[in-house]
Amino acid sequence: MIYEPLLEKQLETLLPKAYLEDENIRLFLAAVSETYGYYEHHKKLHEDSLLTSERRYLEIKEQIETAKNLEVELTEAKLYAENDANAKSDFLSVMSHEIRTPLNAIIGNVHLLQQEDPMPSQEEYLRVLQISSENLLSLINDILDFGKIEEGRIVFSARDIDIREFIYNLQAANKMRAEERGNKLTVCIDEKIPVFVRGDEVRLNQVLNNLITNAIKFTLNGHIRITMQLREVLDEELSIWFEVADDGIGIEKEKQELIFERFTQANSDITRQFGGSGLGLTIVKRLLQLQCSDIKVESEAGIGSRFSFVLSFSISDTLERPEKKLDFKLHDLQGAKILLVEDVEFNIRIAEKMLQNWKAVVDVAENGQIAIEKARANNYQLILMDLQMPVMDGYRASAAIRRTSRNVPIVALTASVSSDITEKVYEAGMNGYLSKPFNPEDLYRTVYKHVMA
Ligand code: ADP
Repeated sequence: MIYEPLLEKQLETLLPKAYLEDENIRLFLAAVSETYGYYEHHKKLHEDSLLTSERRYLEIKEQIETAKNLEVELTEAKLYAENDANAKSDFLSVMSHEIRTPLNAIIGNVHLLQQEDPMPSQEEYLRVLQISSENLLSLINDILDFGKIEEGRIVFSARDIDIREFIYNLQAANKMRAEERGNKLTVCIDEKIPVFVRGDEVRLNQVLNNLITNAIKFTLNGHIRITMQLREVLDEELSIWFEVADDGIGIEKEKQELIFERFTQANSDITRQFGGSGLGLTIVKRLLQLQCSDIKVESEAGIGSRFSFVLSFSISDTLERPEKKLDFKLHDLQGAKILLVEDVEFNIRIAEKMLQNWKAVVDVAENGQIAIEKARANNYQLILMDLQMPVMDGYRASAAIRRTSRNVPIVALTASVSSDITEKVYEAGMNGYLSKPFNPEDLYRTVYKHVMA
């Protein structure tokens, strides 16, 4: 009989050989040997399972380590991305300021030259220069805005909008460009819409202006119609349906979704023929989405296009428009006394020249500190205030002027009309803003509104 090796060894040393002759002892030893066998087997199983769980434990430990490393890497990547996004937006805002300043000079000088009776051949050059510089400006604005929208940095403000005046201003601002392409630009406003609604005028202007600019661009000798209709009136809110319709080149059915994608145009000929970056409609769509609205397009190639959306506004407490008569055609500011606060030499020259052409009396302050002193010593009818200046910026200067003269209107001259800037402008006690580079008509309207009306 062969016993378990361990038992065999013990028998050899401990049990005299004669005992093994006994049948009962042999049976007993066989049973013990079998138990040893079970014991060894279980021991082995146990060791195996210990080994397995140890391996499993090591595996899990390794997985936890990997997950931990991944978490560290992800946190680092997130930080990096955030820094990257911040660096990107800082870069964009610095660059935009740097680009806008000389562009302001170009646009302003073109306007001044246009007023000085250029020869017919020069008129054409000036017109090309004007269109190109305005296109470049709108491209810079689009890229900047797109960046802000992508980063979710848009905050919508709510202010009273005189919605009719707003639309007529839009019509007036686009009239010349429409006529240059033989287009009629008309407005149709539902009488039921109240005089004032509360919303974000800057963003609404951006959306509609984009649609109107496109309609003009893609229509020749046609008709562009801007329509506003009251949709729904609730307790504290109302909604208005806006439509910009044209009878221009239209858009093929299969392209109608695509045009809202960034940098996408209906076909590759468009850039060559009409210019543009393909960002306008993307911005329109996102700006509306952020206000829980959406843009709709109905169009047929060769027949025309209709772009429409419904936007909600808060109901305003202001019911009546104050009586005022504006005659922009006169371009006469009748000796209005204006303080221009600006540090960039050519910006001063341009604004000063424009205002003087309209018979205003202009005083200049090169920084906020000088502006405070001049405002104390003189009685100005309006202060035009640049925001970024050495020594003291426009916000601090305006707040200081507001403390002593409550009534003088102060209008910010700003290179950026983002909502955070407009908020800050009003917080500092200013009455409005004009975005640079401004065209003469906008400057005139703003000054007229505060000084003459
Ligand atoms: P851009 O006008 O700078 O090219 P948009 O995003 O504003 O960029 O428009 C994208 C494209 O949509 C245009 O290039 C054009 O092909 C098409 N489109 C937009 N509006 C109209 C319109 N009113 N009529 C015809 N095509 C249009």
